[in-house]
Amino acid sequence: MKTQRAIVKEKPGAGVTLKEVPIPEKLGSKEILVKVKAASICGTDIHIYDWNDWAVKNIKPPRVIGHEFAAEVVEVGKEVTSIKVGDYVSAETHIACGTCYMCKTGNKHICQNMKIIGVQTDGAFTNYLVIPEENAWLNPPDLPIEIAAIQEPLGNAVYTVLSGDVAAKDMLITGAGPIGLMAIAVAKACGAGKIIVTEVAEKRKKLAKEMGADFVIDPTKENVLSMINDLTHGLGVDVGLEMSGKESALETLLKSMKKRGRVSLLGIFDSNPNVNLNDDIIFKGLDIHGITGRLMFQTWYQIKSLLENKRIDLTKIVTHKMPLEKFEDGIALLKKGEAVKVVLYPDQKI
Ligand SMILES: [Zn+2]
Ligand SMILES: [Zn+2]
Repeated sequence: MKTQRAIVKEKPGAGVTLKEVPIPEKLGSKEILVKVKAASICGTDIHIYDWNDWAVKNIKPPRVIGHEFAAEVVEVGKEVTSIKVGDYVSAETHIACGTCYMCKTGNKHICQNMKIIGVQTDGAFTNYLVIPEENAWLNPPDLPIEIAAIQEPLGNAVYTVLSGDVAAKDMLITGAGPIGLMAIAVAKACGAGKIIVTEVAEKRKKLAKEMGADFVIDPTKENVLSMINDLTHGLGVDVGLEMSGKESALETLLKSMKKRGRVSLLGIFDSNPNVNLNDDIIFKGLDIHGITGRLMFQTWYQIKSLLENKRIDLTKIVTHKMPLEKFEDGIALLKKGEAVKVVLYPDQKI
C-alpha cells in the first residue's frame, strides 16, 4: 500500500498529527482522484485544531483535514464525463446528495445530507484526495495556484456581497478577516458606493484600505455610529455585511443600517447575540438573511468572471506560503492576526 504525508485529526481533543496515511485507491464511478498543488488554511481548520463545539459535533476522527485547494486531476472514475486527467481544478467543498428537498429545489449548498470535504470526507492537507466529479471546478491554466486555492472562501465573499444590490450602495463590512477583505474587493469591483469597514487588527486595517475600503474604523478607538451617521448624511448604510461573528459588531451594524436596508450575515457567533428586534430590525424594515457556503454553482461562475476579467486582485491576501509540515506555525500566525491566508504546499519544501 502506498502512503502519503497528511495533517490528520487523529483523536478527539486539541491538536493534529502529521503522519503517513494510505493514498486513496478506490474511486467511485463519478469520482476523481486529484493531486494537491496548494491548500489554504481556513477558520474551520482552526476550529478543528482547537476542537471547539462545532468540531465535536461534525468530525469523527481519524480524518485528513483541509478543504481549500488547487489540484491536478490524476485519475477519473468510469462515468466521469466533464473532467479529464491533467485538468487543473479547485473544488466546491459542500458535497450535496442531489436527491433531498433542498437539492431538488435549487439549494444544493444547504443540502439536508450535506458532507463537507475535510470535515466528513478526507481532505486536502496531503498529496492525494478523492472528490465527486460534480464538486470539481475547472480553473483557467494561468490562474496562480495560491489564488486557485482560496476560491472557496472567495465564494463566501462573492455570495454575501452579491446576494442583493451593490451598485452605488453605501456598505458597512464588519470584520476584515480573509473573507471580509475579499468582500471589500468584490464590492469595489461591483460598483459599491462608500465602503466602510470596521476592524481592530492593525495589519488587517491596512489591508482593508489596500483592498479598496474608503473608510476603515477601529471600534476600540473611534465612535463607529457617529462616523457612519456623518458619512451617510444621517441615513445609514444601504447594505450591511457581518463578517466578524462578534456580538458588538452585529449591534453596531444593525444600528448603522438605513431603513429598508439589506443585512447579510456570514460570521458565526460563539454565543447567541442579544438583538433589539423591535428598534433595530422590525421598525427599520430591514431585510436580513443568513449566508452559508456558495450557490452551486452560480457563485463559482461569478468568481470566474471576477478573476478572469481581473476585476479583483487577491495577491495581498495570501500573506504566508509554507510546506505542509509547518501547518501549526500557520495556525499560530492566523491566531495572532499576523497572517490573513496561509497557503501550504504538500509537494514542496519552501
Ligand atoms: Zn474554508
Ligand atoms: Zn441533498
